[in-house]
Amino acid sequence: MNETAADVAIVGAGVIGAAIAFYLTRRGIRPLVIEKEDPAAGSSGACDGLVFLQSKKPGLHLELAIESRRRFEELAQVLGPEIEFRPSGGLCLIENEDELAALGRSIAAQRAGGLPVELIAGEEVRRLEPLVSERILAAGFSPLDAQVNPYALTFALLRAARAGGARLLGGEPVVGIETAAGRVRAVRTPRRRIAVPIVVNAAGAHAPEIGRLAGVEVPITPRRGQLLVTAARPPLLRHGLISARYIAAKFNPELARSGEMGFSLEQAESGNLLIGSTREFAGYDRRTSFEGIRAVARRVLPVFPALASLPVIRTFAGLRPYTPDGLPILGPVASMEGFLMAAGHEGDGIALSAITGEMLAAHIAGDSPRFPLEPFRLERFSTAEAA
Ligand SMILES: Cc1cc2nc3c(=O)[nH]c(=O)nc-3n(C[C@H](O)[C@H](O)[C@H](O)COP(=O)(O)OP(=O)(O)OC[C@H]3O[C@@H](n4cnc5c(N)ncnc54)[C@H](O)[C@@H]3O)c2cc1C
Repeated sequence: MNETAADVAIVGAGVIGAAIAFYLTRRGIRPLVIEKEDPAAGSSGACDGLVFLQSKKPGLHLELAIESRRRFEELAQVLGPEIEFRPSGGLCLIENEDELAALGRSIAAQRAGGLPVELIAGEEVRRLEPLVSERILAAGFSPLDAQVNPYALTFALLRAARAGGARLLGGEPVVGIETAAGRVRAVRTPRRRIAVPIVVNAAGAHAPEIGRLAGVEVPITPRRGQLLVTAARPPLLRHGLISARYIAAKFNPELARSGEMGFSLEQAESGNLLIGSTREFAGYDRRTSFEGIRAVARRVLPVFPALASLPVIRTFAGLRPYTPDGLPILGPVASMEGFLMAAGHEGDGIALSAITGEMLAAHIAGDSPRFPLEPFRLERFSTAEAA
């Protein structure tokens, strides 16, 4: 067994682990990122790329997302065009009077929280997005909603982190965490022992497994999302698009189960359309199902009938790391010194990656994060910690 050492070990090379590594190296701290497969092998490589603000709950959730969105402008400059960041604006599509009333309330609260967002009429929606059918009554429009290539973002963050001195250990699962006297001492993979005083749990939907290795109970559940990819076409869509029902289903598991889960839609820079996605509690099963894919197609086609002729070239599923209150779990864990959480971003991890990376890096460097970590700590779930 190899013996080695690091100042900080990050478990997981998804977008969250990559962002933390990136922001740490900017502070002169050189972490070791340990990934059991390849970078972006988890949800960060099996998702949409919406950097959406309209889908965030007014309050902490939205404030965090706005702060993250601000950092994307800088990330796009530092990481370059390969991340395909596009400040395209986004539409949240409304199909009936109930949704109109609900979204009207949500927009008022979001505006009060500092988000530029407005309600626009159906004709205006069709002027902005000519493929939208008459079924749509109105939409929320925010110029801050944006898009990025999540896979490319993860790799670009890691590449920049490595240029700044971070190390990446790929294809090696963390299988053990050594602790003594209530603090972290080392992590183990099948091939080596790494002495390290700080371990960041950025294992996404697998964060509970890593938590258990340190005796910490983490209330994260995998929530599967199935997605369709169409053949590439010249530009058909100009904005990131979600239906109002998609936001409602995010915060209401009953609605998601009922099949009324709405849809998200975007056209990647490559020209392929991504049409998503289900929200299912199906354990760690990452297979797609005929029923799931059919449900997604049935939701989108009445609103975008022109897409019926587009060939679907691929389907895939990813596991959103779901927490009971919809917020990520971030920062130190009271019961285990040196063990930090950075997981549980559900369907928002791409959008929240930049601020998460910065907050964790600031804390590790001994600075006050731009956002207080307190409201995001594990201890907010009163029964969460192992006895
Ligand atoms: C269908 C779908 C659509 C989505 N759309 C959006 C969207 O439009 N916008 C948005 O912001 N978010 C979206 N999300 C959510 C987003 O994908 C996630 O929140 C984000 O990718 C989580 O990143 P992560 O780094 O925490 O987890 P992951 O990307 O899952 O990374 C965790 C990593 O940890 C590794 N790991 C696990 N166990 C171990 C171990 N023992 N040792 C070492 N490594 C380990 C895994 O292999 C994995 O690479 C979507 C998700 C899905 C499923």
